[in-house]
Amino acid sequence: MGRLIVITGIPGVGKTTVCAELMRQARGKGMSLRIVNYGTIMLEQLRRRRPGCHRDMIRKLPLDVQRSLQERTVKEIVAQAGGVEYLLVDTHAVVKTPTGYLPGLPVHVLRGLRPDLLVLIEALPRDIAQRRAADATRMRDVEPEDGIREELELSRAAAVTCSTVVGVPLKIVMNKSGGQDEAAMEILRALTGL
Ligand code: AMP
Ligand code: MG
Repeated sequence: MGRLIVITGIPGVGKTTVCAELMRQARGKGMSLRIVNYGTIMLEQLRRRRPGCHRDMIRKLPLDVQRSLQERTVKEIVAQAGGVEYLLVDTHAVVKTPTGYLPGLPVHVLRGLRPDLLVLIEALPRDIAQRRAADATRMRDVEPEDGIREELELSRAAAVTCSTVVGVPLKIVMNKSGGQDEAAMEILRALTGL
């Protein structure tokens, strides 16, 4: 079993973009790395019962449904974890639901995943707002910059809590506009230190 790295960050920070760049750089260095997207696995499970659902509908589902998808996803990820040096899990420390912030990594999820490293990707609120508005593939909620700032704060607090619970480092990486290469490089450096 290789290393498991949990990558978190609020919607629009560019997690998926940075992860794709990370994959490219890791391949270039001959590292074996796989990325799984937590939301994609949740969506696959959901679509078995409700075909046609979009990933941005998940956070609006009843909480018990979200929790049960969340729990089944941990099992699925653990089942897929073998055979690579580094498994990266693209997910969220907090999920903004209409009922409040739902932890993306509650204790039972952390205990199931047993990460070796936590990464938090951040970006400037202005850049996040622009990225959310520009992404036509998503049904992102329009959020004023104050709301984005609150999400960033909550996400940091949750990520620190997670690192404390499992006793692993938290690497915070800034994804500047056009700076995904640099952000990916920083994460890669952290990986090779494990
Ligand atoms: P993403 O494409 O990363 O924005 O993920 C799509 C959706 O999946 C999110 O908006 C959440 O509703 C859900 N999701 C992803 N990771 C988690 C998690 N760890 N716990 C609960 N829901 C999650
Ligand atoms: Mg994403």
